[in-house]
Amino acid sequence: MDSQFLDSSALKAVDDYCQYRRLVGDDDGGRLFTPEQYKEYKRKMVPQRVKNRLYVSFGVPGGIECRLVGPETPCFCAHRYKQHKTDFEIIPSERPLLLPCRVKKCLCSAYEYLPHIGAAPVRCGCKHLPQDHTEGDTSQNISFSGDCSEFRSPYTCGCGQPTYNHQTLVETKSERVARGRPVGGDVPYAAMGGLTDFSSLVDGYIALEASGLLTDETIQTGHKSRKCDYQKKKVLSRAIIMIICHIQSTFIVIS
Ligand SMILES: [Zn+2]
Ligand SMILES: [Zn+2]
Ligand SMILES: [Zn+2]
Ligand SMILES: [Zn+2]
Repeated sequence: MDSQFLDSSALKAVDDYCQYRRLVGDDDGGRLFTPEQYKEYKRKMVPQRVKNRLYVSFGVPGGIECRLVGPETPCFCAHRYKQHKTDFEIIPSERPLLLPCRVKKCLCSAYEYLPHIGAAPVRCGCKHLPQDHTEGDTSQNISFSGDCSEFRSPYTCGCGQPTYNHQTLVETKSERVARGRPVGGDVPYAAMGGLTDFSSLVDGYIALEASGLLTDETIQTGHKSRKCDYQKKKVLSRAIIMIICHIQSTFIVIS
């Protein structure tokens, strides 16, 4: 295998492109923004994201969060979270918050997490895959065109509950704080969903991360070890963002 070396300016260009993709996602419609458009996009979107970020999780109401949804997490419609509407100038007051898919011709009206076993999505009790079911009219559930009324998987999650007892929850920062769940630091990136920490990437029953908002204020009044944990988590969350960027850049270089 041949080694390829990039000089520092090429590496910076790759890093800048990664940063651009994390910020813009598909909002440029497949055509790169000009520097002026990019500057204007950041001026508008970064403060809006910090203010109106939405957190998405999957779990049994009242239980642990079994899965935290990130930009690449797939929906029932087979598209990823980042392909759904995740930016709002004003957050709607209706609940549940519905995040429709933005992919052309997709009928998905609200993001809904689809559990996987390895790389394969879970099957419905009728043994069919989600894509064998057709989109329902009003509910988030997808109804089967044949003999089952809705997609209902008997698969048991790591938390011990069947998948059909779980729900996808979309919430604002204040709603999440009120529930005592972690909100992480403010990030300018698109569709970060529920990812607030390194441990957000593993299943909830493995992570069992501490509940509660860890602010500098609470840390100063808390135990020393808690501060240490928080700083470690901060470093790890930065590391994971860098890893994601570098994985993306590898694909860019390869393709
Ligand atoms: Zn969808
Ligand atoms: Zn879709
Ligand atoms: Zn079915
Ligand atoms: Zn679960």
